[in-house]
Amino acid sequence: MSKISFTSWKQVVEFHSPIKNGELDSQSIEVRQDPLTGHQSVLNQALHGKITFAFPETDYDYLRRRMSETVDQCFMCGGKWRATSPRYPEQLLPGGRLQKGEVVLFPNLFPLSAYHAVVMVGEKHGRTLDEFSPSLLSDAFSVSLEFIRRCFEKDPQTPYFTINANFMPPAGSSIMHPHIQILGSPLPSTHHRMLLEKSLAYLRDTGSCYWTDLVQTERESGTRWLADLGKSSWFTAFSPIGSNEVDAVWPEKSNFCEWEEADISAMALGVSRALLAYHEMKFSSFNFTCFSGPLGKTLPEFRCFLRLVNRQNMHPHYRTDDFYLQKLLKDEIILTPPEDLASLMGKKFR
Ligand SMILES: [Zn+2]
Repeated sequence: MSKISFTSWKQVVEFHSPIKNGELDSQSIEVRQDPLTGHQSVLNQALHGKITFAFPETDYDYLRRRMSETVDQCFMCGGKWRATSPRYPEQLLPGGRLQKGEVVLFPNLFPLSAYHAVVMVGEKHGRTLDEFSPSLLSDAFSVSLEFIRRCFEKDPQTPYFTINANFMPPAGSSIMHPHIQILGSPLPSTHHRMLLEKSLAYLRDTGSCYWTDLVQTERESGTRWLADLGKSSWFTAFSPIGSNEVDAVWPEKSNFCEWEEADISAMALGVSRALLAYHEMKFSSFNFTCFSGPLGKTLPEFRCFLRLVNRQNMHPHYRTDDFYLQKLLKDEIILTPPEDLASLMGKKFR
């Protein structure tokens, strides 16, 4: 018997609609609540098939034009990073940077936390979402984990790390060149702290770990389930905090210090597959964060957890996908029901 309950409720809205000749229209709204955080998202089936209202399709001509217009000024391209990117002090990172295959890690020039590294993901300046291979991502996550371990060895007072991505300007990136960012801080971010606090409360209430219960419940119910990839489990979010949210949990790993090569390749494979599915849905921009429990502590209540969402597409006359509903009310609108997303995406995971 699952201890997790997926709460939702329906509301009916009636009004005379000009697009139905002034007749009385009745629309049903479903409000969903995340079982851990209580985060709400809203699904209005009347929006079904009208996603381009909110997410105009990617304009690939515009995307290619922006790529070629920005390549000359890119500080990463053509090996320019060797001369232009910052370096860490030798005692933290001998050589100042980490390199593997086509990826290179260096400090962010304007850090936002005690440790803030950038990983250039490949030499190519512009990519569409079908061009993130598992091996490229695996190298990027591999140097990220190595950096995190070295930081923690030197500075055990800084245990809260996340691996993050801003891909393309609509996702908040200031540059087109693919990259990810690692943040490390003595204190967790607001959302990270909430996840840790709520996970502890769940353990105290139920005697078990929310994240392993969640994986088991999603696997058994199947409507949002994607796949087990290695020792990570992938599914779509019941009450997403962003568009088309895909989640992954590492049921045996509470923090990044416990990760092995297989955990890194599982993350790379899952992100690569989900991005390929986004690409086929004509999306071109995304954010993700992979959360870890505090390094060096095996918390019984927490497991490593990744959220991946797509953002507004690359097209002229850009409109952000965050409005007051997300930014200030902290709710989210669901345009593709998570169960439909899982069936769209599932074929990439099987
Ligand atoms: Zn570039």
